[in-house]
Amino acid sequence: MNKYSVSLKTTYQQSHQLYNYFYKGRKDQNKKRFERNLISDITDSAFIYGSDIEIRPCGYYKLAQSYVFKSIQKILLKKLNQSRYEITVFGELDKVAMNTVGVDFGIVNLITLSDGTKYKFPTKTKQMIQHYRKEPDKGTKNTLIDMLDKEAESLAYKTYFEYAYVCIEDLGKLDVLDEFPKADYHFHHLFWNQYTDYLRHIFIKNPDKGLKYIDPFMTSQICSHCGKRSMKELKNRIFTCHHCKHSIDRDVNAALNIRNRGLQQIAA
Ligand SMILES: [Zn+2]
Repeated sequence: MNKYSVSLKTTYQQSHQLYNYFYKGRKDQNKKRFERNLISDITDSAFIYGSDIEIRPCGYYKLAQSYVFKSIQKILLKKLNQSRYEITVFGELDKVAMNTVGVDFGIVNLITLSDGTKYKFPTKTKQMIQHYRKEPDKGTKNTLIDMLDKEAESLAYKTYFEYAYVCIEDLGKLDVLDEFPKADYHFHHLFWNQYTDYLRHIFIKNPDKGLKYIDPFMTSQICSHCGKRSMKELKNRIFTCHHCKHSIDRDVNAALNIRNRGLQQIAA
């Protein structure tokens, strides 16, 4: 098995927890020494998903880049200065998974990627939607459709260039109302239909890459870490697993499940 180590520089978010975790009950360790140079092994207590790493029980750290590990052997944490830590992860990188992204379609966020990236409509588009609601004339409608089309095209190319495999839920064509849509989701539907059309057209030209359609069944209710089902609380944007206590952004969890199902297809 090939071993890799990846050094990830990150800004700290919960240093007090980190301090409590390492310092508590350790008489040999003084606080100054801790502050100056924190280096510790943390094993079997880290999760990397999207651009976040969760080191239990220290909290979440935002990573500059996304890595996927097949297994983690060891994690070293080193304090660089007041606001930065260096995290070094030793483990085996999952190259296929790193080149595969799951895309979750949503209503709060337009799309959420399994690497943690979220897209909403730009302010310009939102303003045009408001404008269209007030004056639903043909000119405004065409301008709006044109805007959504351009955004769908650019996002489809962006996902295509960044990843070898893109996994999406097989949702079919979503309903789009012809006349004066009342809710935002009609515009989201319109965007999604165009976005997936573009993906299809782009991917069909490149046999080295792949667009994977996956079964959308319960992608938002399954824990992306342990694979078990937890009832989702609709109000809560955070998914917390009742079984393994894994806690993660709800949309990123769904996107990871989508990616994981896509990976099963790729491996088959
Ligand atoms: Zn779980």
